Amino acid sequence: MILYDMHTHSRFSFDSSMEMEGAADRALALGLSGIAFTDHLDVNYNSDGSDVYYDFGDYLYRFEEVRDKYAGRLDIVSAVEVGLQPHVVEENIRRLSGYKFDYKIGSTHLVSRYDPYDRTYFRIEPEKHSAYRRYLREMIRNIELYHDYNSVGHFDYLIRYADYEDNAMYYREFQDEFDTLLELMITYGLAFEVNTRSYDKTTMDAEVLRQYKARGGETVVLGSDAHRYERIGKRFDFFKNVIKDCGFDYIAHYRNMQPIYEKIV
Ligand SMILES: [Zn+2]
Ligand SMILES: [Zn+2]
Repeated sequence: MILYDMHTHSRFSFDSSMEMEGAADRALALGLSGIAFTDHLDVNYNSDGSDVYYDFGDYLYRFEEVRDKYAGRLDIVSAVEVGLQPHVVEENIRRLSGYKFDYKIGSTHLVSRYDPYDRTYFRIEPEKHSAYRRYLREMIRNIELYHDYNSVGHFDYLIRYADYEDNAMYYREFQDEFDTLLELMITYGLAFEVNTRSYDKTTMDAEVLRQYKARGGETVVLGSDAHRYERIGKRFDFFKNVIKDCGFDYIAHYRNMQPIYEKIV
């Protein structure tokens, strides 16, 4: 089937050294039809208050070169992963204005400036239920404040860095938060991202995806969140079937900020 990896990071992200061409070659070798380079814009991300960003002009220039080079063989999608925090909404809008991307992901990486990745977040919220609930509430707040993007990135991002006996984030344990989150996604037409990077050690509770479907959600995107070549398209065959089992007949990718649906076969 036509399958795109809709979440990868090229060397325009501080934490990746992948060249776009190398990633495109890898995607071709895997039989993918397209790849999106969703590099990081995270305003006020670092502990010293500085930003994680890249020059959109340089990125889009490079993107066009690579898109033209692979034309007819592999579809290259221009994209950005926007780091959401309640106090950076205006700055995100200002930074992004005037640039044309095919696809934008809105991702919650920090909660009250605390970072799950470097574990500072788990020091202030050591208990699993409180830590996960607070993260989901922050994501809800972020989406309420700003929703000018296509999909919600890695809804259970925390599970990658948590250190509990069972790190999975279950619908049944956070029903109120998930109900609010999923309703917001439907209201604002936001796609559900299945981010396969999150499931190296912990499983996804597919019930969350089923609940999105039950509320009328139709748009699911698949991304590896690869920062290294060998991670591109990782476990897509498995998660393609999970998505199908949750009642979806299509997986989406984006062009000009509009979803394109491909039948799951
Ligand atoms: Zn992310
Ligand atoms: Zn990412």
